Amino acid sequence: MEQLLRDTYVEINLDNIAYNMKNIKKMVGENVKIAAVLKADAYGHGAVEVAGTVMENGADYIAVATLNEALEIRERFHDYRILIMGFTPDRLLEYVVKNDITQTIFSLRQARLLSELGIKYNKLPVVHIKYDTGFNRLGFRDCTESIEEIASIANIENINVEGIFSHLALAGREEDERQYNRFIAAIDELRKRGIDFKYKHIEDSISAVDYPEYRLNMIRPGAIIYGIKGFHYGHLDLKQALTFKTRISHVKEISEGEGVSYDYLWRAQRKSIIGTIPIGYADGYPRSLSNKGFVTVHGKKAPIAGLICMDQLMVDLTDIPEAKEGDEVIVYSNGENNTMDLNTMAILAGTNKNEIISRISRRVPRVYIKNGEVFKIIDYVK
Ligand SMILES: *Cc1c(COP(=O)(O)O)cnc(C)c1O
Repeated sequence: MEQLLRDTYVEINLDNIAYNMKNIKKMVGENVKIAAVLKADAYGHGAVEVAGTVMENGADYIAVATLNEALEIRERFHDYRILIMGFTPDRLLEYVVKNDITQTIFSLRQARLLSELGIKYNKLPVVHIKYDTGFNRLGFRDCTESIEEIASIANIENINVEGIFSHLALAGREEDERQYNRFIAAIDELRKRGIDFKYKHIEDSISAVDYPEYRLNMIRPGAIIYGIKGFHYGHLDLKQALTFKTRISHVKEISEGEGVSYDYLWRAQRKSIIGTIPIGYADGYPRSLSNKGFVTVHGKKAPIAGLICMDQLMVDLTDIPEAKEGDEVIVYSNGENNTMDLNTMAILAGTNKNEIISRISRRVPRVYIKNGEVFKIIDYVK
């Protein structure tokens, strides 16, 4: 097994991801397919490792944001269905076709191009149509001309128009309902023209839990796969997969009045014990938690002292006198045993949970747990 070359690492529990996937499958039932969203390196969990786990536990499709993400998964898994939910420029569509990747499109031009490339490479390109019901990010605008254009796409030879989808802005129940109704109206218009789709989908994690009535026959959950909860009305039992850990690299006693870190933004109010830990903002730990956050040592909270540096930060260990160099530090976890939970952390840092985990950097090794044991270590840097 690969050696752990740093004290700082994230532990990723694949058993928890399997547990979450099974519960999502149970929630939606057999008639709703699951496109598991593994963009942003599976929200920091490692897309290739997570891909196998989700596909073995109820997922039908893998969804990513970009072509390079799709290719990374394709290289390892030759027969998984992979959907690129984002835009791929014309000049790169040949990679999509050659690698049997499903592409999101919202123009007749790209549909024609994909069809031609399919003929050239002897493939039948598969596409999902993106229909914009109000988010105003990607997709055909909601109007009659768009319906006509989609109908033309459906009539192009050598292209499989497998799906149509939209995305909710989650701007409140009424707005979500309005978007859903616009989507259904578009689907109905197309059906009148004799066009139907194998897959229709509009729901992400939050909406899939909160609005069972909008699941259609496919959902695109991301966050809930990793045990990240953001839903308001529904319920789903989940286990967070990720825990960020490190070890104390230095402990010292300082006198009352001494400053710590850049600009001395923290000063000792009493004789204090300061611990240094080898994690900084370059590891994806938010610098905005300077003087705000805490980590956990021996089951106790150790407040962050002063500005967070690029590679290190200091904590106040004065009330944890047993702490010594080499001791384990839980940087964040699920909130149990006095650990920092992602929700609290996101609020303190002025961001959301997905941003925190998707920004865990390459320098942080991933340690995978499977069947309760360390099963693999991935270090992207070495
Ligand atoms: C990221 C994304 C998702 C998944 O979002 P979660 O909130 O993590 O479930 C679904 N659909 C699209 C189009 C996305 O970009």
